[in-house]
Amino acid sequence: MTPVALVSAPTLSGRFPSFQLALLKPLLERHGIPAQSFSLFMYFGDFVGWRVNEALADVWPCLVGEWIWGKAAFGDVAEQRSYFDDYAADFRVICERAGCTIDDLVRIRERTAFEFVDYVVDTVDWRRFGLIGFSVCFQQMLASIALARALKARHPDIPIVFGGATFEDDIAEQIVRGCPEVDYVHCGDAERTFPELVRRLDAGRAVDDLPGIMGRASSSPSPRARAARPAGIVYRGRAPNLEELDQTPVPDFDEHFHAMKESGYARYPKAQAPLLPIETARGCWWGMKNHCTFCGLNRSGVAFRAKSPANVLSMLRSLSDRYGIHHFYAIDNIIATEYIEELFGQLAAEHTDLRLHYEVRPSLTRQQLRRMKEGGLYSVQPGVESLSTNLLRLMKKHTTGMRNLELIKWCTYYDINNLYNILMGFAGERPEDYALQVRVVEKIPHLQPPYAIASARADRGSPMFEEPREHGVSGLEPQRCYRYLYPADRFDLRHVSYYFEHEVADVVDDATRAPLLAAVARWQRAWEAKPRPRLSYAKSWQQLVIEDRRSERPQTQELGGRAAALYEHLLDARPSSEVRASFADVADVLDRLLAQDLVIELDDKLLALALPENRYH
Ligand code: SF4
Repeated sequence: MTPVALVSAPTLSGRFPSFQLALLKPLLERHGIPAQSFSLFMYFGDFVGWRVNEALADVWPCLVGEWIWGKAAFGDVAEQRSYFDDYAADFRVICERAGCTIDDLVRIRERTAFEFVDYVVDTVDWRRFGLIGFSVCFQQMLASIALARALKARHPDIPIVFGGATFEDDIAEQIVRGCPEVDYVHCGDAERTFPELVRRLDAGRAVDDLPGIMGRASSSPSPRARAARPAGIVYRGRAPNLEELDQTPVPDFDEHFHAMKESGYARYPKAQAPLLPIETARGCWWGMKNHCTFCGLNRSGVAFRAKSPANVLSMLRSLSDRYGIHHFYAIDNIIATEYIEELFGQLAAEHTDLRLHYEVRPSLTRQQLRRMKEGGLYSVQPGVESLSTNLLRLMKKHTTGMRNLELIKWCTYYDINNLYNILMGFAGERPEDYALQVRVVEKIPHLQPPYAIASARADRGSPMFEEPREHGVSGLEPQRCYRYLYPADRFDLRHVSYYFEHEVADVVDDATRAPLLAAVARWQRAWEAKPRPRLSYAKSWQQLVIEDRRSERPQTQELGGRAAALYEHLLDARPSSEVRASFADVADVLDRLLAQDLVIELDDKLLALALPENRYH
């Protein structure tokens, strides 16, 4: 078999190895197909300077990581100066972070991007390969097209295939129609169909009947046959989901570690230790029954599938042994519930020092968080989204403000980095949803704040995008930046865009949101200050001392006997009515604790806000 080149294009951060390349290479090899990976985004970092690369690799609303490749991909697209005016605020931060000017960014687009493409085409002997596959995810589309264009011009007979999570029918079709240099786009899970595509193309056989492969009717390994066929799209639907995830190979990151040294990332002063991505599940078990209204992930592949805990353990064992890395980042959309005990429980029992990040549901209990912390959970993305139960209902999260608050409390206690945000702008929201959140936020400066607060977006594939009327969404238009990325005469921007501008009816106005924005900004500032605000309690047998350092006037409060028992009872949220009945004898204490914001009442439940100093919870 002729070898396959697997390419991961810029613009990506040097910190995150390409999981896609790491999985595809051993997958092909298992089928007897030799493959070589090219983490080109690493070499671009060296080319443009790592400080600049890392700033451009963030996904900004202006999608500058795509824009810099636009001219190399398509030539001049549109008047470009207004791009900088439209996104002036973005560019102020980008330039500061990158240590460059707008003119430098223009030079990267006008010159460096072309030089990099030439460097890639010239320094690798691409004639060795029977197929070049591009893995395309965030901000890799235009660089991939630019590279494909140059490679096709130099090597017209090597088939070029694009694939990755970006490609569902709509975007895939735009790329096949608008990019003659791309012969095929692979849509869906690669395991069953990609090796077969490679084999057939290598043998010069037709691929039109293969599911998951979109091509032009004229696509053919032979230019003569290509010219003879009529134009049009051929597509037999998405590749089937891989159900048995245990069948996927252990990812191979050898090339990434080589690229880290070669590209100079390892010597970049702000280089961060690589976070090794792992995949332990695909799809979303929550989204299968309640697709969160703003979520554009898992479009056709929502059906949830997970590796067995034993398989995950064995994968972690071989990756940590091979690379000496203890720090893993699960790219799953949501954790498989059985991992809580069967994976993290086992990691805890084996006393490893592995550290893992997972996306989780906010409904995790304190006991579950503790178990996972013992097993190495160091960071979560829990999809908190709001502290208002009404807003959570509108976005189909079907959890409560109090459940979210408990999660924030216990993640802070267990020192689990909690990466969540607050979303606004859902049809049917009410001013009181915002006022309530302000009241909650003001009481909890000692708990980890959200990293961002933003309006919900109707991303492609989300229910807000697919059923706009049902969610009060109107005026869906591709985000303005796309007109600076794609030539309008070759692409239908409505079908190639992922981000959209839109209106939402029946939402509160900016003035109503302003106090929450301000309260969250204060919360974030307080969390960054040294020392951080604190609210904690220490206990002896009969007594409990609460130390309140949330403000500049520290206060101490002692509780004894039944009052102390009440406070400990409220460690986890309890129904208000039950608490008031059971602790009627200290009702005055409860009222005082509520007035002092040492206890909070939300969703008809009561919760103690102080974190225990005791480490055994
Ligand atoms: S936001 Fe998360 S939990 Fe909700 S549907 Fe998307 S992936 Fe699933």
